[in-house]
Amino acid sequence: MIKESIKHYDKSEIEPQTRGRGKEILINVGGANPESLDGKHQKCIFSDCPGDGGKDRFRAIDPDNGILYCNQCFYEKNGDIFAAVQRLQNCSFSEAVNKIGEYLNVSHSHPIERQPAKKRAATPFADQIRFLEPDQNKFDSWAAHKLPASAKAAKEAGARLGIWPKKAPQQHQFECVAFPAYRDTDEPTGWILYRVDGEKFPAVPNGPGERKTHLLRGSVDGWVFLGGRSAIEAAHTIIKAEGIPDALSIYPYLPNGYVVITNVCGAKGAAKCL
Ligand SMILES: [Zn+2]
Repeated sequence: MIKESIKHYDKSEIEPQTRGRGKEILINVGGANPESLDGKHQKCIFSDCPGDGGKDRFRAIDPDNGILYCNQCFYEKNGDIFAAVQRLQNCSFSEAVNKIGEYLNVSHSHPIERQPAKKRAATPFADQIRFLEPDQNKFDSWAAHKLPASAKAAKEAGARLGIWPKKAPQQHQFECVAFPAYRDTDEPTGWILYRVDGEKFPAVPNGPGERKTHLLRGSVDGWVFLGGRSAIEAAHTIIKAEGIPDALSIYPYLPNGYVVITNVCGAKGAAKCL
């Protein structure tokens, strides 16, 4: 894969585009909890705030423009969204500018500015999820929420453990079981995530609502192969299940010559797959 060169953005060029989109940027780039941006006085959201953040010292003073304030730990040089993202992400100011610039560049919501599909997948999967070493306990605890699906079946579907979103502050990250989907290459074209604890992913303002699964950005629908692609090629009968839990549940009971697959973008997406 060709590594994209890191772009440097100019604050003065980006700043006009951030206006009115403060909440969205603080949540998606900064990793802020939406509830912390309601403008009310509350416990400070910064983990290093003295005295465990107090009770009411923090407030989003201008959420639409991304301006945050804490009377203990963020009362100076807090006058713009770049400072807020810098503080949230614990990065340098120029990194904050670049993160926001990158985000705004890839998420134009006006049709006229929409980029072609190839370019939209600008955030590689590896920048969105941090994969973890296999851990049987975590697979088991995930499978316990999806019975009769088993950890073994999940692993045979190529599932991996990971932390998502990779760049969010720790308190906004989720441990996930991620399933790869494939089309006609060896590289996954998509990843679908479930939380290890079986809970739903919370809604993102201006983004997806509460949901049981999360597709990594840039995912293209494809097939999750249980037992690997070679098993599919050797099979005489392919069963298409609606969703991963169903596929995993029947997988252990298949007679010889049968395999099960499922796609990742919902029942309607399957038509476009093969
Ligand atoms: Zn504070």
